[in-house]
Parts: sequence; structure tokens; C-alpha cells
Amino acid sequence: MLSSSWIELDQAALTKNIRYLKKRIGTAVFLSVIKGNAYGHGIEQFIPMAESAGIGHFGVYDAQEAYRALQVKAENTHIVIMGMLDEDQMDWVIQSDVAFVVFTLDRLKAAIAEAKKQKKKALIHLEPETGMYRTGIEECEIPEAMDLIKKNGRYLKLEGFCTHYAGAESIANYLRTQNQYQLFERLKKDFRRKGITPQYYHSACSAAALIYPYTIMDMVRFGIAQYGYWPSMEVKMNNLLSEQAKFTRDPLKAVLSWKSRIMSIKSVPKGNFVNYGTTYLSTKNMCLATIPIGYHQGYSKSLSNSGYVLIKGRKAEVVGSINMNMFMVDVSNIPGAKAGDEVVLIGKQGDLNITVSSFAELTKMVNYELLARLPYQIPRTKV
Ligand SMILES: *Cc1c(COP(=O)(O)O)cnc(C)c1O
Repeated sequence: MLSSSWIELDQAALTKNIRYLKKRIGTAVFLSVIKGNAYGHGIEQFIPMAESAGIGHFGVYDAQEAYRALQVKAENTHIVIMGMLDEDQMDWVIQSDVAFVVFTLDRLKAAIAEAKKQKKKALIHLEPETGMYRTGIEECEIPEAMDLIKKNGRYLKLEGFCTHYAGAESIANYLRTQNQYQLFERLKKDFRRKGITPQYYHSACSAAALIYPYTIMDMVRFGIAQYGYWPSMEVKMNNLLSEQAKFTRDPLKAVLSWKSRIMSIKSVPKGNFVNYGTTYLSTKNMCLATIPIGYHQGYSKSLSNSGYVLIKGRKAEVVGSINMNMFMVDVSNIPGAKAGDEVVLIGKQGDLNITVSSFAELTKMVNYELLARLPYQIPRTKV
């Protein structure tokens, strides 16, 4: 193998997650959010896996991700760009029937102009401002947007009318989320009154769909939950305690594992500093394993002297600092550990499991960030 570590993606876990989440949203369409390189899972590997579990809609962040998705997706699979789209990329985007979210009048006008040129409909999702104040077309611009949409029916297909909640995973944002929902409902009515009927009304991310079922509407944009993680502890607790969703075994299974191998073994006599500097002093004669992973490979420096890995089904603690490409773990209590042995950085080995959230707690990163930062160049394989 060229690479010093690899990522395994569990098809059975993904299929289970999707089946469970589909059950939770009834007949609404499941849009699989694959921004951030499919939350680190790898767009190219993830799309066919999700397709084989029945997914036909994907949401990407930008034109680059849409381009990658186009190379691997099945013929009837739909792609929507939720974020950045430069006007100079609109030609091939419209040409390839990639939909995109529109949150400025400029983008709407550019879409119409390009669609006219191609004598083809641009597929758009209109996003009004509802209170997140990030993207979203201003309420005062909506009448002009409605007029443009009505007048240009030959050049536009309004696939969606959508919004996004500013933190549905936390009860601290309850009021803000509810206000957004109310405003969105009012804007929906304005659209209907005007005789404009989008194909899908959608507002929910994982958290909103799983705690506020009325936000499900016609489509849910599932990100984190499909990969096997609850958006937050609060969302998990809310489900655990609710009548309709309570569970004894967690219905969400982690899809991703990250593995490497021991590069070399070293014995260190009592009373010596290990690795750079003086952060770790051996207090006994020790046996250490060197792991060929460092912060360049995505293993955070903040795991120095605090992280752990699994070797031979046992826990091995990080000793000393995480270097750019290596770190060391204590294998004194794992007899027989040798170069070439499998090392689990995230995932299961034997009876033990290193979850992304335990890993994330040590680094003060949330699941989302840890996953999305897994380097692009680590090979991903389906298992
Ligand atoms: C990231 C994102 C989602 C998915 O959020 P999760 O919390 O991962 O489910 C949905 N909608 C938009 C607009 C997003 O940017």
C-alpha cells in the first residue's frame, strides 16, 4: 500500500442508517448531503454506496464537488449545489442538469440568461432569508424573484423552496429555529398565492428532522445522521426519551473506520524522555510502537499525550507529542505487538471501539469538523 493509513466504509452500516432515517421521514425525499468530501467519507466512494441503499438525491457544497459527483453518479441521480457557484461555471452546471440553490437576484438573473442561451431549463432551489442571516434572499427582493420565476417558466424549473435552521441541534436555539419555521411557512403561503409551486419544500437537516418532525416537509437534507452520528447529545437524548423514537440499541451505526499499521517497535529504558522535547518521561522500562501517522495525515497535535489507539484488541495510549508524520503509543502491556500489526485510530477492534465523538472530545472538535478534516489523500475503501 502506498499510503500509511486507510479509511474503511461499512456498506451494511450505511444501508441500516438510511433505512432507519427513511422510516423516520415517511414519504419525504431523502437528500444525502455530501459536502466536505462526504463528511470525510470520500465523494467518489460514498455516492455509489448510498445509491445502492436507494438514494437518488445528493447535495454538494460547490461546483467542484458537483463535478466530482457527476463523474461517479448513476444516470438518474440528482445533484444540487447548496453553496458556492461562480457564474463562469453555470454553463456546464445547467447543461448537466445539476440543480443549485439561488439566494441572490444576481444568481437568479445569471441562471435565466444562461438557460436562455442553452434553450434549456435551469433547475433551481430558491432560498429565502428566514433568520439565519448567512445566505437567503431578502424578503424585500422576493416579489422581484417571484416575477422573474413566473415570467421565465420556459427557462427555470423551481425544484425547491428551502431554508436552513441556525442550529437545530441545540435547545439553546429553540426560539430562533421556531421563528425561522414560522416565517418559512408564511413565505410558502405567499408563493402559493402567487400560483408558484415548487416541486419540494424543504427545511430540515438531520437534527431538525429528528426532533421537529413538522420540519420534514417534502424533502430532508440528511448529513451527519446518515454517516452514523447524532447531530448532538441533545438530539440523541430527545429521541431516546420520545415515545415514537425511543431505542435500546443505537439505530445509527458509524460507517467510517480509520486504520493504520505499526511501523516499528522500540524499547525505552526507565527515565528517558520520549520523542521531541520533555513532554513524556518513561517511568519504567517500556515498549513503544511508532505509528506512521501525524498531523499531516489528520491526527491532531492536541492528541499528544492524551489520545489512544487499538492494537490487538487492546487500548494503547499516545505517549509524547504527535509529530507531522508519526506518533508513539505504549504497547508495554500488549505482548507480541509487532511491526505490521493493524492499528485502529477510529472504529472497532475486538470488543473495543474508538468513536469519533470520544476522539472529538479530546481534540475539542465536533464530529463534523473531525470528519470533514480527514485528508482527501487517505485511500477510502468499501467493506
Ligand atoms: C450541512 C447542511 C445540511 C446537513 O446538516 P446535518 O446536520 O449534517 O444533517 C443540510 N442543509 C444544509 C444547507 C447544509 O449546509
